[in-house]
Amino acid sequence: MGCVITIDGPAGSGKTSVSRMLAERLGYAYLDTGAMYRAVALAAKRGGLDGTDTPGLRDLCANLDIRLIPDGGTSVICLGQEDISPLIRTPEMDMLSSKVSAVRVVREAMTTLQRKMADRHEGLVAEGRDMGTVVFPCAEAKFFLTASMAVRAERRYRERVERGERSSITRVAEQMEKRDEQDRSRSAAPLRAAPDATVIDSTAIDLEGVLGLILHHLREGGILYGFSKINS
Ligand code: C5P
Repeated sequence: MGCVITIDGPAGSGKTSVSRMLAERLGYAYLDTGAMYRAVALAAKRGGLDGTDTPGLRDLCANLDIRLIPDGGTSVICLGQEDISPLIRTPEMDMLSSKVSAVRVVREAMTTLQRKMADRHEGLVAEGRDMGTVVFPCAEAKFFLTASMAVRAERRYRERVERGERSSITRVAEQMEKRDEQDRSRSAAPLRAAPDATVIDSTAIDLEGVLGLILHHLREGGILYGFSKINS
């Protein structure tokens, strides 16, 4: 495994945008682990599985062909040959991915897959909920992004509106709070900062500012020594 940088945090904390920007800046691969749990949720729904059916989910994960294909600064997620990217960012998949991700067999399957994916890259920015705590405990650098609920809900609301969806900030905030609570309180790999993670509160900082702080930490920690791309 090469150099892994982990970025964890709750929904709407800005970690997706910042992870993509950081990966692009460093010339690293970007691993969107939330998309993987969303792919499991979609496959479970299609298979008529209940989100808590452990034997059913174990079989499902054993036969699932999840692929993350780099696409510019982002990635396309496929089940086999099918691009499912447009299908997984719905409020229903938000909640179902959170439900299936609490099931231990699902987490074990995804953790194995994520480590295998990481092995293929010399540099990786891995984004999720348990990257620094469980999947890559020996990562070179770990970050945990937070922001106030009001700011996180506003960001997610704007994304939905930009996609042409109808929503309200109140509804987005309610769903977000429920999902975060589920993610925090589960026994398997709960959402939390690794003890050795640098916590960044992005409530009053824009994404460029957060990226700047992360690059500063990486430089100060000597982690990017030799990576000429970011020495500008
Ligand atoms: O990051 P994103 O919102 O796409 O993640 C969807 C859901 O997948 C999260 O709410 C969480 O329940 C689950 N997840 C997880 N562990 C990860 C990434 C996502 O449990 N590493």
